[in-house]
Amino acid sequence: MNILNKTDLFHSLFDAFRQHTDSVYFVDGENPYRFSFKGKFVTVFIRNIHSAQRVNQDEYRIQCQGSLLETLNMSRNTGDTVLVLGFFADLQVFSAWDPDIFLARHAGAQTFSIYTRLSGMQKANVEGFSTYTDTNEQNVIMFRPDLLGLYVENSTALHQATTRILRRVAEVYSNTQSGQQPSARPIVVKRQRISVTRTAYPRSPRFKRDVLRAYAYRCAMCGIQLDLIDAAHIIPHSHPKGFDTVNNGLALCALHHRSFDTGLLYAQYVQDQGDYSIHVNPARVEHLRKMGRTDGLRSYEQQLRSKLLLPDNYDLFPAPNNLIIGNVARGVGLEG
Ligand SMILES: [Zn+2]
Repeated sequence: MNILNKTDLFHSLFDAFRQHTDSVYFVDGENPYRFSFKGKFVTVFIRNIHSAQRVNQDEYRIQCQGSLLETLNMSRNTGDTVLVLGFFADLQVFSAWDPDIFLARHAGAQTFSIYTRLSGMQKANVEGFSTYTDTNEQNVIMFRPDLLGLYVENSTALHQATTRILRRVAEVYSNTQSGQQPSARPIVVKRQRISVTRTAYPRSPRFKRDVLRAYAYRCAMCGIQLDLIDAAHIIPHSHPKGFDTVNNGLALCALHHRSFDTGLLYAQYVQDQGDYSIHVNPARVEHLRKMGRTDGLRSYEQQLRSKLLLPDNYDLFPAPNNLIIGNVARGVGLEG
């Protein structure tokens, strides 16, 4: 069984959010984690799901500490969307508990467990969503990582939906993702309309042009040209400081752009040496190792330069402070 540490859980969350939108970045926190997601703040508590070791072998659970309730209540008071999640790494499935019921029902508790079902998670792994109603008439929802974004935007309605409706939502959503038209008929649960669309930030064509020119159409991390180069934002564009300026940009090939956005690679300004060094993020590699997805790592590392290739014009260099903020926004530096 795969037991993930805190940072692995963070990466599982971040990857799942990014399947829905690239308008997401990490703000702060160490479980609960706080993210900005499509311009709104989301506080997420997440734990590994494991067997409850009871007679009923279908019972799985996460364990919580009472102090968590206070933290989540505070987040909620500041207007954050609050999520209470478990992650079952063996199946790559989340379970989500209704935060209203969670907070009300456990008030004053020191430690407690909340339950989900293995059979439901197995079903969710295949069908996208599944649900299980516990003894308190709470609908625990189980879903695949690609549906996390949909869940964030519709958690209240989804906790009230039947399995049949959840299945329909997953189907309409996957059609939307694959570029097909969403269903003409909106899906409504108890007068709440479920939003199944994705939104993309408008891109500035000027930013792309300026960054590519500054870097002479070369990837700053491996040096290739071949017209495979994108303009990547150092501070993500959905962040209040994510400006479309060349000193917030890096020209990166498709491979290294993706690597940069997922936090696999990062750059750091080393003041003493006056240079910009490139690093592979060990926590991200460790996470990928647990998922069994590190083939090709050695040749990947060999392609990398040790330092960023920079523009001729010093004024266009990446701003060191942008690198610091950008690294935080991708969870670089989280450990344990
Ligand atoms: Zn490259």
